Amino acid sequence: MTVVGLDLGGTKIAAGVFDGEKLLSKVVLPTPKEGGKRVVEALREAVAQAEARAGTRAEAIGLGTPGPLDLQEGIIRFTPNIPGLVDFPIRRLLEEATGRPVHLENDANAAALAEHHLGAAKGETSSLFLTVSTGIGGGVVLGGKVLRGERGQGGELGHITLLPGGPVCGCGLEGCLEALAAGRALEREASYAYHRKVDTKELFQLFQEGEAKAERILLQAARYVGMGLASLVKAFDPGAVVVGGGLALNAPAPYWEALEGAYRHYLRGWEAPPLRRALLGEDAGLLGAALTAYLEVEHGSR
Ligand code: ADP
Ligand code: ZN
Repeated sequence: MTVVGLDLGGTKIAAGVFDGEKLLSKVVLPTPKEGGKRVVEALREAVAQAEARAGTRAEAIGLGTPGPLDLQEGIIRFTPNIPGLVDFPIRRLLEEATGRPVHLENDANAAALAEHHLGAAKGETSSLFLTVSTGIGGGVVLGGKVLRGERGQGGELGHITLLPGGPVCGCGLEGCLEALAAGRALEREASYAYHRKVDTKELFQLFQEGEAKAERILLQAARYVGMGLASLVKAFDPGAVVVGGGLALNAPAPYWEALEGAYRHYLRGWEAPPLRRALLGEDAGLLGAALTAYLEVEHGSR
């Protein structure tokens, strides 16, 4: 059986036709700035182009999308980075547009599922995944299945509270891990410290040059990630902890040392599960979306 995995992001849409784990074709299109129904049109177009390249018509479609989602109803409640997707019935509209069943999953949960089955946590019964990128997302996989929770809020690991009274997060609360350690948080801190706009690339550069302020900002963020992961281990005790995302994966070695140092510090006296780097890179979301479709078709669920 072939399926199409779709990864809907704030800037781009990726579509991949899979035959099992094998990626037959991949297409990347820009996410329409207008958002709304134009997004459905772009998703349909990405599916059509990927299928034309693979020379096959897939049986089902898996879609990884930012959320929060109502997975029962197939609705995007809202997305911070794409306009016009408020209470948006994405599943019905995409099913109408493509004529195929659509299986939805939160994007970070999809990536967690892929790393669990095919990546850094392959062979484990359970795993915990954190993606440190523009924001921070996460996923918990237990017994091979993503924890969605009763209300679809399961695995929103970027919004655990680490610092009461801390910086206000995109979600509206204060002191979330995301508000302390995501790419956007680092840019906020660096821009404040240097009195000008500093992006994460420049921050890494300043760090490499031995800049004291850059070091404080970067390593403090790494320690928050390690501290957060240590707390999550106490909740889930997973077989392995996997960290990915463009920010973490491109960060210099001292970032990882600080992260792991804090992780071990806050697990002293406990058994620390192995901490690993994500292996699947930017295709994790695509693979996870395809896996979601496979698993749901197999179990006859949606
Ligand atoms: P997204 O957030 O869209 O999923 P990524 O996982 O690539 O995308 O993460 C983007 C974040 O990571 C941004 O904050 C970006 O500045 C940062 N980032 C990505 N690559 C690098 C790099 N080579 N150096 C510094 N920062 C990077
Ligand atoms: Zn938050």
